Amino acid sequence: MYIPMFYGFNWSYLLLVIVSLVLGFATQGYIRSTYSTWSKVPLPGRKSGAEVAREMLAYDGVQVAGILATPGELTDHYDPRDNTLHLSNENMNGGSVASAAVACHETGHAVQTARGYVPGKIRSALVPVVNFCSSLWMIVFIIGAFMAISGLMTLAIILFAFSVLFQLVTLPVEFDASHRAIAYLRQAGYDDTTLRGAKKVLTAAALTYVAAALTSIMQLVYLLGQTNRRN
Ligand SMILES: [Zn+2]
Repeated sequence: MYIPMFYGFNWSYLLLVIVSLVLGFATQGYIRSTYSTWSKVPLPGRKSGAEVAREMLAYDGVQVAGILATPGELTDHYDPRDNTLHLSNENMNGGSVASAAVACHETGHAVQTARGYVPGKIRSALVPVVNFCSSLWMIVFIIGAFMAISGLMTLAIILFAFSVLFQLVTLPVEFDASHRAIAYLRQAGYDDTTLRGAKKVLTAAALTYVAAALTSIMQLVYLLGQTNRRN
């Protein structure tokens, strides 16, 4: 991801890598352990994630094209392009507090789309831009660094800044989906243990997005610092 070889050994670069790795491992470990804890706690009524998602959709008056099972662990997502909820097997069929929390969070994204939630629209609009920029910025940066063309390095940083913007816009979208999930579970009359567990699972999931955003901001600051030094 980084290109330290152009600058020789560099303490700030090493620090950046260590902090990014620690943040990544810590947040991934935290979501896995929190999820594992609450996936052992049965949801009152033993409803599966898919059932709870259907009830939340009905409560919010929102329709989706379908609820499909997706392979893998914690691979759950809502795809606004086909208006479909994709739930991992464990959350689709599992009847735990964790599966209800994740299913309701993804349903929260479907509700955002149905309601025209603006940060969600901005995020969707940024997806193709970010896909383009994230594959291009490093090539432009390397060419700029090799040929010592500071204009190219600046262009690379502008391209990279789009992915930072994307990570930042993702935060309110994720917080809002979790907020909708908890609000639904509360009004549906679930007990305090369920609400506490769902909050813990969704907070742990949110931390992974916060860590990703922090990491990309640090990268951006680092790239800016390096470019200024060269100039
Ligand atoms: Zn989400």
